[in-house]
Amino acid sequence: MELIDLKAQQARLEAQIQARIQAVLAHGRYIMGPEVAELEGRLADYLGVRHCIGVSSGTDALLVALMALDIGPGDEVITTPFTFVATAEVIALLGAVPRFVDIDPVTYNLDPGLIEPAVGPRTRAIMPVSLYGQCADMDAINAIAERHGLPVIEDAAQSFGATYRGRRSCGLSTIGCTSFFPSKPLGCYGDGGACCTDDDRLATRMRQVMNHGQDRRYSHPRLGINGRLDSLQAAVLLAKLDIFPDEVERRAAAGARYSELFRARGARSTAEARDGLLTPAIAPHNTSVYAQYTLQVDDRDAVIARLAAAEIPTAVHYPIPLNRQGAYARFRCADCTPNADLAAARVLSLPMHPYLTAADAERVADVLAGAAP
Ligand SMILES: *Cc1c(COP(=O)(O)O)cnc(C)c1O
Repeated sequence: MELIDLKAQQARLEAQIQARIQAVLAHGRYIMGPEVAELEGRLADYLGVRHCIGVSSGTDALLVALMALDIGPGDEVITTPFTFVATAEVIALLGAVPRFVDIDPVTYNLDPGLIEPAVGPRTRAIMPVSLYGQCADMDAINAIAERHGLPVIEDAAQSFGATYRGRRSCGLSTIGCTSFFPSKPLGCYGDGGACCTDDDRLATRMRQVMNHGQDRRYSHPRLGINGRLDSLQAAVLLAKLDIFPDEVERRAAAGARYSELFRARGARSTAEARDGLLTPAIAPHNTSVYAQYTLQVDDRDAVIARLAAAEIPTAVHYPIPLNRQGAYARFRCADCTPNADLAAARVLSLPMHPYLTAADAERVADVLAGAAP
């Protein structure tokens, strides 16, 4: 068993991916080839937004979004400490301050009730993360942002394909940023990402920033980066996008099946308890793409060892909140994120992908619950 099995999908799409790659080799436009524009159009249609801009990674998508908003030294960006490091990294790289706010212990996403007290004169943006494939409470966050005239950048690296009140993640706020890292819900065969927005002015700026700040060849009105998406990666994504809606359904079914199996073995959900075996709680207005299927367990090291002995891989997303990481020590707030601390000590991610079989899920549940060796 693998944590994320990419081979089943590859076997299913082999002919289509080969054909798409061959087309790139034939026309030879490896940078900004026609596949990039085709993909951008398909992504925008899928999300129901006006603009998607392909970029070189999820990290660069976040960086490009912040640069297009002119965020820099002295500015503060409100975000979560319970996320992959890239979220806060890009803020700090620009000389700005990641202002860490605690999470809701039920969903692991930013607690909107804690955001408004953190807004100050230097606040320039709010950057929620839709963790594990479930959207943050975007309406509440957008309402706070609107009251204070702030843009909202959704880090949708784990939630592309998820819905929030019937609308798609990555198209829910001023800018949505996603990642096409191979193991993400929609992944390419290398690094890739996208910035999506309904705002024409921001779209133009992001398109410039990701290509050395140029508006036409050798004219650079803005500071930029080399943040382009490769034609080959766009080609792979175009082939994968055809089956993505089916894969999103399979992911939702696999996640629901896991939760049923664990509940049958005595688990409660994060909405019901704070200790014992806890399944994820997906809010009724959300659908999750389960980028990770992440439980809480009491004695994590023992559970990891038991699963490893049965050759079932696991991962911890994430063991240390970012406000407790060395590189972010200067942004540390003493004990301001108790919910993130508790989650970091208890979470455990299990094998999850669209092709996880019922038999494998049952075996994971049996071994984890101690019912099978
Ligand atoms: C993966 C991830 C990123 C970074 O994406 P890359 O494509 O690896 O640069 C950013 N934020 C979150 C929440 C992620 O999971």
